[in-house]
Amino acid sequence: MGLQIDLGAIQANWRALADRSGAARAAAVVKANAYGLGAERVAPALYDAGARDFFVALAAEGQAIRPHLADDAQVFVLSGHMDGADLAGLVPVLNSPQQFFRDRAIRPGRPFAIQLDTGMNRLGMEPAQWAAIRDEALAAGPVLIMSHLACADEPDHPANAAQLTAFHQMTDGCGVPRSLAATGGILLGPDYHFDLTRPGVGLYGGLPFADAQPVLRLSLPVIQTRDVLPGEFVGYGAAWVAESPRRIATVAAGYADGLHRAMSGRGASLYAAGTACPIVGRVSMDLITVDVTALAEVPAALDIICPAQKIDDLAARAGTIGYEILTSLGRRYERTYL
Ligand SMILES: *Cc1c(COP(=O)(O)O)cnc(C)c1O
Repeated sequence: MGLQIDLGAIQANWRALADRSGAARAAAVVKANAYGLGAERVAPALYDAGARDFFVALAAEGQAIRPHLADDAQVFVLSGHMDGADLAGLVPVLNSPQQFFRDRAIRPGRPFAIQLDTGMNRLGMEPAQWAAIRDEALAAGPVLIMSHLACADEPDHPANAAQLTAFHQMTDGCGVPRSLAATGGILLGPDYHFDLTRPGVGLYGGLPFADAQPVLRLSLPVIQTRDVLPGEFVGYGAAWVAESPRRIATVAAGYADGLHRAMSGRGASLYAAGTACPIVGRVSMDLITVDVTALAEVPAALDIICPAQKIDDLAARAGTIGYEILTSLGRRYERTYL
């Protein structure tokens, strides 16, 4: 019952992506509470697997994991040096000339990294901004220069090669370790690996790392089972009507737990030992109704994330991506770590 998180599978996925990173060293991206799985448990497990470089989005996320990691681990903060951020023990990834000058004024001599924009237009210094401060920034000794790919999950997208070229133009000869690839970039091949890779979603069993070991099982307790007759409806809006006698189970989770209402009526199922039991009616805040007519016996719990319906399968049936399924996983689930 609840959310089972296989730390051993996360470690195996990190090793596999480190292996595919070739000569580059693999970091671990643990932002957003390790994609919803619990950064205070996941980050030390990744350290034990060999990771020494960790990325979070916000300084507060870095402060939450710093005490759980040994001193030889570096924790990079992707939002960089925001006004008032507590960066003690962390490495800000400076995204603009303003962040660079603020950081050097407040933290002279402390480690920092630089992010360059190679085309995504989200974070990082533009080529002209970089050209203007490059000499001063390099003289200050960044520990890493990085950029991020917008389309790495589409290997044939022309933006990949264009961003790679831009990154070379902006960084060749700089003499600083470089990083461009997240999970998708690792799979694009050695040209994209540079010195450090930054896998995130692949560690947690998500696409585009199709060979990932599954990390999660989410089992929802059955509260009640009932029989409905032809013509009876189930759930809000009477959106589903039985066409034949059906057995309906009501399980204890809903959109307040990150099981999006958008997955109503789109073919998602819960599973009893591999047998699909379709969701019927609308997903409500705390409850989901499931057609269990196919089961000889209704178990105490039904699985919504399991090998038969992995996070990306569920995401497709909810009109979203695996990343959003992961990071939406509710706080009400009892989390068990294997
Ligand atoms: C989230 C993120 C990553 C990890 O991306 P995945 O696709 O989850 O592997 C790496 N780098 C940056 C800058 C990110 O924002």
